Formats: sequence, structure tokens, C-alpha cells
Amino acid sequence: MAQSTETTDWVSRFADEVIAESERRAPGAKTSVATAPVAPVVVVASGLSPSGPIHLGNLREVMTPHLVADEIRRRGHRVRHLISWDDYDRYRKVPAGIAGVDESWAEHIGKPLTSVPAPKGSPYPNWAEHFKAATVDSLAEMGVEFDGISQTAQYTSGVYREQILHAMKHRRDIDAILDQYRTKKAPAKKSQKPVDEAELEAAEGSGAAAEDDGGSGSAGYFPYKPYCGNCEKDLTTVTAYDDDSTELTYACTACGFSETVRLSEFNRGKLVWKVDWPMRWAYEGVIFEPSGVDHTSPGSSFQVGGQIVGIFGGQQPIGPMYAFVGISGMAKMSSSKGGVPTPADALRIMEPQLLRWLYARRRPNQSFKIAFDQEIQRLYDEWDRLDAKVADGSALPADVAAHARAVGTAAAGELPRTPRPLPYRTLASVADITAGHEDQALRILGELDPANPIASLDQARPRYDKAEAWINTHVPADQRTVVRQEPDAELLKSLDEPSRQSLRLLLEGLADHWSLDGLTHHVYGVPKVQAGFPADATPKELPPEIKTAQRTFFALLYHLLVGRDTGPRLPTLLLAVGQERVRTLLGE
Ligand SMILES: [Zn+2]
Repeated sequence: MAQSTETTDWVSRFADEVIAESERRAPGAKTSVATAPVAPVVVVASGLSPSGPIHLGNLREVMTPHLVADEIRRRGHRVRHLISWDDYDRYRKVPAGIAGVDESWAEHIGKPLTSVPAPKGSPYPNWAEHFKAATVDSLAEMGVEFDGISQTAQYTSGVYREQILHAMKHRRDIDAILDQYRTKKAPAKKSQKPVDEAELEAAEGSGAAAEDDGGSGSAGYFPYKPYCGNCEKDLTTVTAYDDDSTELTYACTACGFSETVRLSEFNRGKLVWKVDWPMRWAYEGVIFEPSGVDHTSPGSSFQVGGQIVGIFGGQQPIGPMYAFVGISGMAKMSSSKGGVPTPADALRIMEPQLLRWLYARRRPNQSFKIAFDQEIQRLYDEWDRLDAKVADGSALPADVAAHARAVGTAAAGELPRTPRPLPYRTLASVADITAGHEDQALRILGELDPANPIASLDQARPRYDKAEAWINTHVPADQRTVVRQEPDAELLKSLDEPSRQSLRLLLEGLADHWSLDGLTHHVYGVPKVQAGFPADATPKELPPEIKTAQRTFFALLYHLLVGRDTGPRLPTLLLAVGQERVRTLLGE
């Protein structure tokens, strides 16, 4: 499993580049474990802000470096994937629709995310920890190994003391760099935000821009902001600073508090974002860190950071821009969390392998959608076809690579898989029709392949559970399948002779074809036999009218079984309904 997939997929190409850059930055030292036991470690990084539920789209911030790190590890190098939890950032606004949170949380705006209370009922000590925890669980399920760094822990323990004093000493140089961009419109922070929030910030005229840059007061520009010693908010202005003594005086515009501290021993503040980010590139020696906005735009954090990082004696990482990840089927999602889909929401309806594959198979600059609607069934079909091709050796090299990155990692090995991965759409139909009756579900699944029946639902898990969760949470009530309790006597009575004959032919062969393959053959075969052709005649041997006859026949069956024009695939539906009830509903 841990073998290298040295092909030409995007992950492999970035791994080449990152290893080369890492060796260029540490000449003489090799990162390969084989050649140097104390080799430097290749550092890749992601940043997540636990300011609310972490959006599924933001998973690309983690998956892009994760996949590259995994490839580097497959090649035998030591690698460290940092996830910086930006939990010392200010609380900007109260997100809508969070359970256990009301308007009173607005009084905490301006405090560090770790100083804001968690939603009511949460077992976690604060806001940041509450939202971080869900993401940590999802990353574990997906096999993402990382080294999480709390920026609150870093800043409040004085880890960055030297860097802060250095930035203050060089504040005029930093100011001069930032000044080149100040007249231009500053883009948002690098994290991908739901569109409404991004728009809101733009409409607000960008308090974010000033916050990202740091403020200039009468005492000049300072790249550092203390959190107020009285109210904990960051609405502070540095009014005086002495480079020799490091004495810093600030005033809080929120509560009027003012104090003078010695920055050489003060730990309650942080560098402004545009300085903080490059400082950490230098501090951690980051070689690869992607981000989610267009870096070519003047004044973006990544571009400015590339100039500021030199002040800290570091270099800018390789930083590809990743494109937006959309969600389809969101409209139907529960609004209990403000309609924000999280990685956990995706993992409830799909296996981690499928979610990993979605990220692995697309280059970071290609956008794609994660399906919560009917599309998930097609996606699963595609995944199963790839799985089969990989197994029989007929898949293309890049597809083999994406598959390998999806099913496991160098660190964790192969992720747990469903022992009998039955088609997702079949499982979804069975879950739909049986509505939680596991004994019925097992009977139907056992009949799919009578030669090799599944003996327990567990063999179809966790895929079965995911399909069931999808049916229950994302398929609207009017699209659910409800099998008729009683035959539709009126419709049966009104049928013409050809229709009656088609039902007779179906029922006559029912017992002999009672399997998924058998019934597939049989339902398509009935209209052929009725038209005087063999049941196994191929489309080339048949007149085009057969297709119309098949459609009419299928619609009749759907009406008699579920009272609608369409439904789950007929063979699955027939198996689900069961022979006896099929006979009753079809008027035998
Ligand atoms: Zn204050």
C-alpha cells in the first residue's frame, strides 16, 4: 500500500517540486531517511480558522498539502504536515443558525476565538475548541495525519517573542511593503468563506483589511495588536513603543482601558495577519502551503507575505492557489447549522475513500462539486468502475494514482473498507424501501446475488449506513419510495390485453429470475418476447419501437408497485418488494 505512485499526476509533480525545494534550501542535507538519519523534515502547512463550523469547501486547504505530504512519505522522506489552528484570531461575527448560540454572543466580538464561550451544551471549553473538535474527528476518519498547532498556545506562551520584537524593530520596513498596496482594494483573508460572508465583508468596506495590515495611529505603524487587559478585545491602539526597553502603551477604544507593558515579557497579543502568516513560514520552515484566493491580485496576503517573510530570514513556500469546491444539493440540507456543510456531513453519506478521491483526482486549480443530491449515486458508480478497473489492471496510470491516494496513506495504510461494497444506488433504494427494517434489508441484499449471498448487514457496512443516511437526510419526502399496501384495483381493471400479457410474462418468469442480474435480464426481456423476439436479443437485432414498449412497461410496473411514474431501478425495487407482494400488487 505504501509504495510510491510516481506517475505524472498533480500530487506527484508537487511532491517532486517540494522535495527539490527542500533540498535546495538545506544544501548538503538530504531529506531521505535512507541517506541521512538526522535529515531535515519537509514541512507542509495548512491553516484553519475555527470561527464557526468548518466548511466542507475548506477541506481543500488540508487535503492539498495532505496528499502531497503523503506522496513525499511514500517516497521515504520525512515530512510534517502542520495544521495551524488560527484560534487566536478575533471573533468577527456571530454565525447564523448555530444551535446553543444566541445574539448575546455578539458581546464577545473582538476577543480571541479561544476566549469566546462554546455554544450552550458543548463539552468543549471554548468556541474554537468546539468547532475544532468536529474537524479533528473528520480528519482522523479520513486518515489525515497532521501536527496541530494552536496559535493561542503559541502566542500566549511567548513562543514567538523574538519574532514579535523583531517585527516591531522592523515596523517601518513592514509598513513600507504594505504601503505599496494600501491604495488598492485588499482581498479577504486566504481562507475560503461561504459566499454570503465574503460579500458581507466586502459590503462592510473591509474592516478586515485594516485588521490584516495593522493600524497606523499618531505614534506610527505597528504590526502588533494587544488584546485588551480589561475587556479582552482587540480594539486597541498602540500609542507608544520604546525599542530599547520594549515598553509598549496601548489604549482600548472599546472600554477605555490603557496600560503600559513590557513586550519582552507580554504574551497577550498577536502580529497582524499579513505579518503573522509570513512570520510562521519562516519560523516553521514551511515549503508548501496552498491557499484559496487568487495570489496574482496585488496586496493578497500570500503576495505581500512573500516580501515580508525576508524580514524574518525565511522564504515564501510553494503556494498553489486552489479553486472553489462547491456543494450540490445544499438547498435540501438541514438549516440547523446555518446550512454550512462540514466534512462530517459529507462523511455521514459517503465513505472516506470517496471523499479523498474527489480531492485527489482534480488538480487544485480545478473546481468541483461534492454531491449531496442524486449525483452521489452516479459518483459512486464511477468510483466502483474505477475500483474494478484498478483490480483488473485496466485503469490508466493517473487514475490508478488517484485511486491509491484515496484508499490509504503511507502513514496509516489502507483505510477500513466495506467488505462487500454493493452498489450505493442499490443500497440507497433498499434503505429507502425498507425504512429502517434491517431484517427486510438483509433479506433483499441476500437475494441480490443468490450464488454468493451476504450473510449479515455488517458485510455491507459502512457503505450501507452511508446510503441510508443519505436517503434519510437528503432525499426529499416527495422523492421517497412508498410501496403500495393494496393493489391498484382500478388501474388493473382498466388494462388492455397487451398490458395484461406483459404482466403475465413477468410473473411467469419471476421465480426463475429472482436475483439482481436475473431480474435485470427479465424486465428488459418481457417486451422483447411480447414483440416476438428472443429475451436475449441485442439492441441491434431489435426495432426501435422496443425501447418505447420497455418504457411503457416500466411505467406500468412503477404505477402498480409504488403509485408513481418512476422509482428505484426495477430489479432492485422488485427484490425489495418481495415475490409474494409483487404478485399481489400485479393482480395475480
Ligand atoms: Zn478593553
